[in-house]
Amino acid sequence: LAKLIIMKYDANQLKITEVQKSKIEEINFDNLVFGEIFTDHMFTCDYEDGTWKNPEIKPYGSIELDPSTKVFHYGQAVFEGMKAYKDDKDQIWLFRPQQNFERINKSGARLAMPEFPKEYFFKGLEELLKLDKEWIKKGFGNSLYIRPFVIATEECVSASPSTKYKFMIICSPAQAYYSGEVRVQFSEKYSRAANGGVGAAKAAGNYAAQFYPTNLAQEAGFQQIIWTDANTHEFLEEAGTMNIFFRIGDKLVTAPTSDRILDGVTRKSVIDLAKDMNIEVEIRRVKVAEIVDAARSGELKEIFGSGTATVINPIVGFGYKNEKFELPKLEDSYGKAFKDTLMKIQYNQAEDKYGWRY
Ligand code: PMP
Repeated sequence: LAKLIIMKYDANQLKITEVQKSKIEEINFDNLVFGEIFTDHMFTCDYEDGTWKNPEIKPYGSIELDPSTKVFHYGQAVFEGMKAYKDDKDQIWLFRPQQNFERINKSGARLAMPEFPKEYFFKGLEELLKLDKEWIKKGFGNSLYIRPFVIATEECVSASPSTKYKFMIICSPAQAYYSGEVRVQFSEKYSRAANGGVGAAKAAGNYAAQFYPTNLAQEAGFQQIIWTDANTHEFLEEAGTMNIFFRIGDKLVTAPTSDRILDGVTRKSVIDLAKDMNIEVEIRRVKVAEIVDAARSGELKEIFGSGTATVINPIVGFGYKNEKFELPKLEDSYGKAFKDTLMKIQYNQAEDKYGWRY
């Protein structure tokens, strides 16, 4: 049986069709807007009759879908976000991709989607990166953003799980990203996720649901929202696309992952690094009142977000109810130390004692 299963998802079945002419010459790599430009190729694979079939790399381009396709009506869709980096010797590295592979299947399971085979995920990803390797530019901060995703493709508007799916990987070149000074609002009214819901999944709809409250926060002068628990709004959970850390005195505090919070790859890496740097990390619920009090007493030294897009995103201030708080400028920022260490590992400039590079 094991042999049969291996044969079923034989990575050698991958069909590759290359572009006739690359469009890379047309791209200005010094002026990239995040997520707007895509490489020459994409990976696609279809689920039909109870099995994944036709893994294929082909020229990047539109796909045609019937208006009744389920993803349009019920949002049965999940995705991932990861990056490829190029070192000085032109070697290409991924950072803990096994984690993204496992997470897309975890997300998919929550949305009643079939598991995607590991053989196809890694073969598709590796061959795609080999073909589009010129799109990954050298230099600290440059990367290729990789977006695997799965959509429900059955042509039927009945509200039930699709019998057909499409898995795809598309890639977008990215420059070092500076988001400007980030001030966040602690959410009092809206929620991102509820107990028993889909917060821990990278489900497409989770992101759409954040746009409206985030617009309101932006009108009020904040860049992002820190979501609080839906039940009481008393506990700080995570940001829209980042997990959140608070430094109180010399200690770091972050919320535990749960069915409401995404299990971030950067978050778990920061926790491991902190232990190595002898920084105490408390993984526990974080009360809004605790952070407000710590800000008042001066004990709150830092807040930062962790995520693939920016690695570590420092937060310079926050708002809660009608009050605004600014954080001190630090010489010995933990966030900066984590960012430097993580990026050196990602770009093959430091020893990788954890085996995170791939
Ligand atoms: N929380 C949410 C809701 C996210 O979408 C992301 C981005 N994947 C993160 C946290 C950070 O996760 P990671 O470090 O794996 O990018």
